[in-house]
Amino acid sequence: MDYPAPIASLIEELRRLPGLGPKSAQRLAFFLLKARNEDNKRLASAIETLSDRVGLCERCNAFTDLAICFICTDPSRVDTVVCVVEEPGNIMAVDRSGGYRGRYHVLHGALSPIHGIGPDELRIQGLLERVREGLATEVILATSPTVEGEATAIYLARLLKVLGVKVTRIATGIPAGSDLEWADEVTMTRALEGRREF
Ligand code: ZN
Repeated sequence: MDYPAPIASLIEELRRLPGLGPKSAQRLAFFLLKARNEDNKRLASAIETLSDRVGLCERCNAFTDLAICFICTDPSRVDTVVCVVEEPGNIMAVDRSGGYRGRYHVLHGALSPIHGIGPDELRIQGLLERVREGLATEVILATSPTVEGEATAIYLARLLKVLGVKVTRIATGIPAGSDLEWADEVTMTRALEGRREF
């Protein structure tokens, strides 16, 4: 049985969202069908205004509804450290730890020659300009511990070191609360490489 056209097209749109297979998309569509009309209208308008009101921070490329985002203007943060991440969502992941009070820079991707993503597709120039301004004394490369993330970190490290800034890479290894037994070889190797003295 085919769904009525409006439901079918809603399911089709929902399936574009990450992590939603056909079954979850159908479940969501039926949830929305039963929801109150005003709730659905609010959801629709929130989605509609997204691209109108949210852009990229002129300084760090994070998502913001201001020219310069609130992290870049926060006076309680230090300008001496810049943490480089692949995606805007990664900022929250680093910041949630509460252990970092510096600035950020978002690349919007990682180097991936097979997918046609070279240095020109990433927001690298802005980072180099920020370092040239001279406020930062350390750049933390917090790209993912994937092949692409590692390649990006190595590429950036080479460019940044020339500018005379200290370049560090986040440690990777065994997740807290997990058993060593379940660590794969790459994770174990990285954990040993990143060991520190007590
Ligand atoms: Zn910003």
